[in-house]
Amino acid sequence: MSRSKNMIKLEAINRRPRKIFSEEKFNGKIPVITDYYAENTFDFRKSDMISDEVKEELIEATKATSKTRIPNEHADQVAKAVVAWASKRGATHFCHWFQPLTGTTAEKHDSFLSFSKDEPILKLSGSQLMQGEPDASSFPNGGSRSTFEARGYTSWDLTSPLFLREGENGKTLCIPTAFVSYNGDALDVKTPLLRSITALSNAATKFLQLIGDKDVKSVVSNCGCEQEYFLVDKAFYYARPDLVMSNRTLLGSLTTKNQQLSDHYFGTIPERVLAFMQELDYKLHRLGIPSKTRHNEVAPGQFEIAPIFEEANVAVDHNQLLMAVIKKVAQKHDFVAILHEKPFAGVNGSGKHLNWSMATDTGDNLLEPGNEPHKNHRFLAMVSIVVDAVFKHSKALRMAIAGHGNDHRLGANEAPPSIISVFLGDTLTKIYDALESGSEFKPIDDQWLDMGAGQLADLLRDNTDRNRTSPFAFTGNKFEFRAVGSSQNAGFPLSILNAAMTDALISATAELEKSLNSGKGIEDALLDLIRTNYKRSKNVVFGGDGYSSEWLEEAAQRGLPNLRTTAEALTVLKDEKATAFLTETKTYRPVELLTRYNVAVEGYNMSREIEFSTLSRMVRQYVLPSAVHYKKGLLEVIKTQSELEMECVVEKDILTKVDTLLNNVYKALNNMEASYNDSLQKDEEEKSLLFATKVLPLSEELSNKSNQLEEFIPDELWDLPTFLEMLFVR
Ligand code: ADP
Ligand code: MG
Repeated sequence: MSRSKNMIKLEAINRRPRKIFSEEKFNGKIPVITDYYAENTFDFRKSDMISDEVKEELIEATKATSKTRIPNEHADQVAKAVVAWASKRGATHFCHWFQPLTGTTAEKHDSFLSFSKDEPILKLSGSQLMQGEPDASSFPNGGSRSTFEARGYTSWDLTSPLFLREGENGKTLCIPTAFVSYNGDALDVKTPLLRSITALSNAATKFLQLIGDKDVKSVVSNCGCEQEYFLVDKAFYYARPDLVMSNRTLLGSLTTKNQQLSDHYFGTIPERVLAFMQELDYKLHRLGIPSKTRHNEVAPGQFEIAPIFEEANVAVDHNQLLMAVIKKVAQKHDFVAILHEKPFAGVNGSGKHLNWSMATDTGDNLLEPGNEPHKNHRFLAMVSIVVDAVFKHSKALRMAIAGHGNDHRLGANEAPPSIISVFLGDTLTKIYDALESGSEFKPIDDQWLDMGAGQLADLLRDNTDRNRTSPFAFTGNKFEFRAVGSSQNAGFPLSILNAAMTDALISATAELEKSLNSGKGIEDALLDLIRTNYKRSKNVVFGGDGYSSEWLEEAAQRGLPNLRTTAEALTVLKDEKATAFLTETKTYRPVELLTRYNVAVEGYNMSREIEFSTLSRMVRQYVLPSAVHYKKGLLEVIKTQSELEMECVVEKDILTKVDTLLNNVYKALNNMEASYNDSLQKDEEEKSLLFATKVLPLSEELSNKSNQLEEFIPDELWDLPTFLEMLFVR
């Protein structure tokens, strides 16, 4: 055997919680959050090196609808303040930080070093702050540019704060940027998200103005991402090629006790994990990321963190950063953080519940039920427009959460199904039903009035708590898009959601205008709108058990699409009808949709190829040898006993069983490999469909056979860390 598994286990068991607030640096005192909150971000408002005039210009430029351009000399002034601030805190380099279509973030560091009359100086110019030109040819572009046009530009996103990234030996100033091609085509996640934010603001403002909210000048979308993740001890992680290669276990027998007793969810956080979470929160708070809640999740080894919600673009940047910080801090605690949607078959997977709402610049949350009749109408209209948006664009929303990892989660343990539906809760559904059926709807019915606003929100929350199976649920004063995968960049689904809402708002505004022009009063027109919307789209409203097989049938009868796999869901990107709203709202250009399709299909295929070949290798290098090793021992015993004329019934029986299990594994391996090799001949689209429907099921068959063998083989002969070790040793 290679490095003994017992040594690995001992290493993991003997670890101690890591302390971060040392006696020398902190006098043994734990610092107060408000003393260090956001100390690693640059706030131009607080800088005394930037004039008031420039500050006002910057504030103006951060508005979604702004057309303000910062003149060069003003940018130089800001850059000077930035470099002074950053270098004082130990930063030696800066980088444009952006989100290409790789799913993660990218950065290229430049030092502040420059020369003035042969003397070294620190310098960041205004143009270096505002614009970068990384070679774009090595980022996924899905064929949208020929290689000779490799030029790509990064452009400073003024709405997202500059921050310092800390390394062991220095700091780097990170400038959040958008990443576009020579033609201005978005090569990243941020650009379309920003466009969708602007489009939504315009459409919502127009709608609100029409219904009498004349003070509203803009509307922001807000977002809070609940982030789930697993922690596995580093020693086990590096002994599992599948975790290292593909971030999920490709085989492994489920432990006898896993999550049946529900004893992990909200349980006491293990000491070593708590130490990790404390350092994580400390780091996040210094970066101005408003981390708020932390707890154990349902599966053993699974945890969750959620921040206070923020404006959508900043929330997405912060979530990207948070994922990176989780990984980094976990390493310091000898854990590896796994953000994959389904690292362990048989227990819960991880999601990123994307909480979403819209708020006016006058401070109103448009999804807050409120207690004034007029506001209730507005609220009811808004929610009915959201329902309409999801109904009309459910295919695109399904596409937006597609990814090879999420395929293992959607429809599995405690994850929403791949059918997109909306959960409204009892109270709201009843109100809409009454409205629709024409029974006179009193906005203030007993239930509604008795509760008062605050309590009403609570009541709705209670209702929603009972339904964890919905992919898109109303939860009090926001919607929660739960089908989003834990490792995904939330910016993509958010851009699709914002665009869907924009499209539905534009239609609603047109309908409303028509009613008003025909002489209807605003209240009547609004009620009409709610009714028509609900009538048209209520098929997407579902309050039952999303995990049940009955729902699959019912959804089919209702005509709701069910795109089961990523391969199927991605074809939506090529469906002009299904994506028309994305181009009409100017969130995506047609070429960008094609780009995303190509990049996603290729990404899907590459991920699966890595998984299939890793699984093959693991079976050959670990699983088969373990069984052969066991057989060898048994054969020796049988041989010796036979020589001594002893019976060996049991040994022979075990040997036969091992042999059968081994044969099963070998057969399954050959089947999978044959199917895999066949698929490789196809073009990318066909390959993805074959991978999803043929090779993947065969790979799961192979895992099952291997798991049966694992359960039969002495633990000391099983080289790979088991689920028991990975999920329970902390
Ligand atoms: P729950 O546990 O019911 O999902 P929480 O209050 O824990 O609700 O909220 C979960 C996430 O939703 C947090 O990130 C929170 O900040 C965010 N959130 C709360 N209100 C809103 C809102 N109006 N818009 C967007 N996100 C919100
Ligand atoms: Mg929640």
